[in-house]
Amino acid sequence: MSDEIGYKAINLAFEKGKLHKDNTLWIDFVGGETFLDFQMLQTMVSYVEAKNKDYGYSLLFSTTTNATIFNQDILNYLIEKEFTLKISIDGDQETHDMNRVTTSGAGSFDIILKNLKYIKEFEERTGKVVQVTNVVTENNYKKYYESLVFLTQELGLRYIDTGVDLSIKWTDEQIAVLEKEIERSFDYFIDCAKNNQGFRWEFADKVVNLKKQERKKFYSCGAGIVSSYVRTDGGVYACPGYLDSSVELGNVTKKIEKERIRKLVNFRGIDNPKCESCDISQYCVEQSCIMQNLAGTGDVNKPLKIFCKMRKLMHKIHVDNEEIISHLVM
Ligand code: SF4
Repeated sequence: MSDEIGYKAINLAFEKGKLHKDNTLWIDFVGGETFLDFQMLQTMVSYVEAKNKDYGYSLLFSTTTNATIFNQDILNYLIEKEFTLKISIDGDQETHDMNRVTTSGAGSFDIILKNLKYIKEFEERTGKVVQVTNVVTENNYKKYYESLVFLTQELGLRYIDTGVDLSIKWTDEQIAVLEKEIERSFDYFIDCAKNNQGFRWEFADKVVNLKKQERKKFYSCGAGIVSSYVRTDGGVYACPGYLDSSVELGNVTKKIEKERIRKLVNFRGIDNPKCESCDISQYCVEQSCIMQNLAGTGDVNKPLKIFCKMRKLMHKIHVDNEEIISHLVM
């Protein structure tokens, strides 16, 4: 991203921030790989801080990195600016290197292992837990449980969030295997909690809070209304999970299409008879995730099969473990 686009994106965020009552401006740097141009990140943070003298927002900075580029200076800077940090590791060396390779084709696991000391130091010095994303895809889903154990036990990571590859047409057989892996992982999660070795796992958060988070009658996450993402070409998008030009909300160098934002504001749910008659409809946010539906099925009214199945699995695990869940402090 050029500095010019970056400045314009920030100017837009400052102006739109006035429309929200929380007086908070959260700037999230995501890639590609953010640290490829750490200089630019620093330039933008300085710009935000200087500009904020006229606005007085509470500022939040966060970034996601694949942890292949790290050093003490980067670490000190992130700590000084009170960043929240998210990294991507899929599992053990074999699992990670299946999909995350350098431009020369070599696996990147060894580099990450070397840089893990910075992640640990970040956690020790800030008291903040680094969120780790592992992505489940066609060639690693059978090792989901193993990967979760590895990340939490071998690497000692305390906050795992799992992404699912939406580009795959997941078959029923593959989903059935993944469901077993996740059920096993939930048992492991509970055992760890009982043995005072608890960790945070996004899937378990959703299981535990399933009934607390009843689906609201509007667009659930507010993407495009309370948050937006800017691409390197200046295109503004509601959700980083779907950056197709068909859903561009405008461009920081030209104009923002208010009509497109209005459509998101007025969204009241999908039109899907199967979801309407579903037993767990009231607890299912998959229905209202417009961008996820578009990215996965091309149809705003059609949730992806894998997310539908995962939501049903969350409900099943919740019901099966209601007694234990009532004792968990999340
Ligand atoms: S679980 Fe599936 S069928 Fe039920 S409401 Fe959610 S997406 Fe629709």
